[in-house]
Amino acid sequence: MASIRCSNCNLVNFGTETQCKRCKQPLQELLNIADERQADFNQNPQNSTSTFHSYQMPTTPPVFYEDQRQPEMPRMCCIKCNKQNNISMQNFKKDYVPPILYITFFLGILPGLLLIALLKVKHNVSAPFCQECWKNFRRIPGKDVLGLFGIIGGFFIGIFALVIFESVFLMLLIFAGGIGLMIHSQVFKSKHSPKYKKVTRKEVIITDPIYGDICFAR
Ligand SMILES: [Zn+2]
Ligand SMILES: [Zn+2]
Repeated sequence: MASIRCSNCNLVNFGTETQCKRCKQPLQELLNIADERQADFNQNPQNSTSTFHSYQMPTTPPVFYEDQRQPEMPRMCCIKCNKQNNISMQNFKKDYVPPILYITFFLGILPGLLLIALLKVKHNVSAPFCQECWKNFRRIPGKDVLGLFGIIGGFFIGIFALVIFESVFLMLLIFAGGIGLMIHSQVFKSKHSPKYKKVTRKEVIITDPIYGDICFAR
C-alpha cells in the first residue's frame, strides 16, 4: 500500500499519512483499499488475483481408470481366471511341508500335525486376484478344516455309532459322509487355488494363465 487516495478531494497521499495533506480529512484507508480493489477488478476481472483469491480446488490424488492406464504398464490379470476386471493384489501364505515331516505321523496323527504346523515353511506370496477368485480362494482354509473333520471326526463318530447302535450300516454311512466331506474340500481346493507348479523350501512357482510360470522366491 504505497499511496492513499483521499475520498474527499481525490488527492493521492503517501500511505503513511493519517489525514489528507490538502483537506485534512482523515484518510479512510480501508474504504480506499476497497475502492482500489473494486477499480482493479473492473479493469481486469480475469487477472484479479491481487484482489480476490480465486477458489482453489483441493488437490486430490490422480484417479486412474482401467482404460486410462499407462500403456507401458502391463494390465493385471487374475492369476486364476485371467480376467482383467476388479483385480487387486492379494497377500496369502503358501506352505511347504518338507516330505520328511510326514514321517512324524508314525508318532501319531496329532503329534504329526503339530510338528508339521511348527516346522513347515510358510511362503508369503502376493498375486493379482479378481474379486470372485479371491473370495473363493479365501474359503479354502475353512474347507480344509471341514475335510479334516470329515476324515478324523467321521472315523470316531462312525466307531461310536457302531458301539452305541451296533449298526455297521450306520458306521459305513458316517465314514462315507466323512470321506465325502474330504473329497468335497479337496475338489474345492484344486478348483479355486492358483495352479502351483512347484513348491519348495525356497520358492513357490505358480502357473499364470497368461504370463506362464511366475516364481515367488523367499
Ligand atoms: Zn483531501
Ligand atoms: Zn479370477
